[in-house]
Amino acid sequence: MAKTFLTSPQDLEAAHPELNRDLAVPTDQVERLVARYSYRELDRVNCQLREKDSACNQRHGLGSLALTKSGQKGYIGNKCARGHFNADASFKAIFLEGTRDLNLQRDIDSLTARLTEKKSDTSLKQKLELISSRAKTVETRILSAIRRIPGPIFIRLTRMAGGSDRAIRGEVSEVKIDRDENGKERRVTETEPVTVAIVARPDVLHTGRLSAIRKRASEATAALNVVLTDLPYTAQTKKALAKIAKSLDGADEGAGELDAIEAAFVSFMKLENLASLCWLAPRLQDQLSMVEYYLQLSGKPAKQTDARTQLQAWRDEIERKHKGLTFRAL
Ligand SMILES: [Zn+2]
Repeated sequence: MAKTFLTSPQDLEAAHPELNRDLAVPTDQVERLVARYSYRELDRVNCQLREKDSACNQRHGLGSLALTKSGQKGYIGNKCARGHFNADASFKAIFLEGTRDLNLQRDIDSLTARLTEKKSDTSLKQKLELISSRAKTVETRILSAIRRIPGPIFIRLTRMAGGSDRAIRGEVSEVKIDRDENGKERRVTETEPVTVAIVARPDVLHTGRLSAIRKRASEATAALNVVLTDLPYTAQTKKALAKIAKSLDGADEGAGELDAIEAAFVSFMKLENLASLCWLAPRLQDQLSMVEYYLQLSGKPAKQTDARTQLQAWRDEIERKHKGLTFRAL
């Protein structure tokens, strides 16, 4: 379908070679309105409508192209087009399409303004590079911290990271002597579940968020390069413009997200948080590896015996809290 909304005289003349700008268009000679246009100030044209014996001649930028009964075409300003041909259904259809196109043009104008603003922000490129390298550094720090966490504990932590339950559970038990119906003695173990601690911010172990930030930063850099070299400005590229503007807006969000992730990492790596992680493993060897890691981070020498002593001290503490019952990690 031929374009019925045009934004430059060149486009309109190319699409409607029957245009005759010297033609007088009497109201009763108009067959129908065939196109609508919106021109810039410098492209304004004269209204060719003639009512009775008076020609309108008003200069205007917004109007409709009329097809005459003789097959020629002429410009009619918006005021005349509205006043004389408002009842024309085709005019209404064109008007709707024109409004849609005008809205599109307005969107593109505002996107272009946003992008021009970004273009003049000389620190943006540097900011994006900084986000990218900072994300890499944070990721490296988290990954090297993760590497020291024993496998079984790490697996349970990542499960906690996805869910909302962050409690470290165990049980305390007591062996009682009971008698059966024949009066014979038997040992009965009574257990009770206990929560040892709540893990702080295990979600920070998911480093996927950091790669996403890096990816967004490099997309924004690519978008910025497009803006810096050539700003597209056509209806076809509205989607592309919107995408570029959005990815550039995301630059500051990336910095904020990094702040949040770093804060979460600090909470996770606090010694009091790491001290309880050993109870996420039921095997002694894993518990001891975690305690060794803890001792190393706390600046104390990490020897196997120290780890055993420390683990026993924590166990004693839990058992004291539970009236001397025996504690077991689950
Ligand atoms: Zn007029």
